[in-house]
Amino acid sequence: MGDIVVIGAGLAGLRLARILGRRRRRLEGRHVLFIDAKDTFDYLPALPDVAGGRLKARHVQESLAPYLERQGANVTRGEVVRVDTDAKEVSLADGRVLGYGVLVIACGTVTNFYGLADVQTQAFKLDTANDAVALYDAVRAHPDKKFVVVGGGYTGVEIAGNVALYLRRHRVKKGTVMLVEKAEDILSTLPEWMRDYCRVNLSRLKVALYPECSLAQVGYREVVERHRADGCRVDLVRRRAAAGLRRHAPL
Ligand SMILES: Cc1cc2nc3c(=O)[nH]c(=O)nc-3n(C[C@H](O)[C@H](O)[C@H](O)COP(=O)(O)OP(=O)(O)OC[C@H]3O[C@@H](n4cnc5c(N)ncnc54)[C@H](O)[C@@H]3O)c2cc1C
Repeated sequence: MGDIVVIGAGLAGLRLARILGRRRRRLEGRHVLFIDAKDTFDYLPALPDVAGGRLKARHVQESLAPYLERQGANVTRGEVVRVDTDAKEVSLADGRVLGYGVLVIACGTVTNFYGLADVQTQAFKLDTANDAVALYDAVRAHPDKKFVVVGGGYTGVEIAGNVALYLRRHRVKKGTVMLVEKAEDILSTLPEWMRDYCRVNLSRLKVALYPECSLAQVGYREVVERHRADGCRVDLVRRRAAAGLRRHAPL
């Protein structure tokens, strides 16, 4: 069957490593190689806390190599840019080509910028611990402390809440956090009572909700277009800080 190559050592990849580690004898000498673009495992659910300064990056990161070696697997750092299923090879951005017997793709999701090039270059994303540190640095350095978070799902709500908590902790009176959501309500998959609970708590933190809004354009002055009956456009903030939604990486 040949060696097992796993692209991605995130939550799913590391779980697989553990399972394979326990069943090492059944692998009959086959090697297990993990390929990851980073040399750390980043615990993504805690990234909003890093972005708001409640946790340090080191609290949510762990080196991949020691853990994977304990499971009897090897790891190499590199970004997979191509999979050739006929030749059973993966190509890495650094030019290496590695063969495999069995391939597992566990490379998670990336921020979805919905093709908005301006947003992609100017807004912050939250895919890695490094992204969270960059966002925290920006929150601290931003002169006006005015932020727009795009997407009222779990991640957006948590980022908005953490940035608002940062402003409260540092007694920043003039700062604002706006949470923009295209749907009628934030956290639309949750039951009504849970949404109410979150809305109340966001309101206590002075997070302004903008349901039924989509981010139309981000430029020198960011504009959020409200798709309400009156169709008015509101100019919300002077400078940027936004988080988008995520979907599967294009492998
Ligand atoms: C901010 C945030 C908060 C979240 N909060 C929660 C929560 O509270 N509860 C919950 O259940 N879920 C939460 N999630 C979702 C959860 O983290 C994901 O569902 C989970 O991490 C998915 O696991 P995965 O292994 O598929 O992908 P990931 O954990 O994302 O791992 C993918 C790995 O693949 C690597 N990779 C990607 N592309 C390549 C490539 N081309 N070449 C090499 N390596 C590559 C990446 O570096 C990464 O290490 C949250 C996610 C985020 C971003």
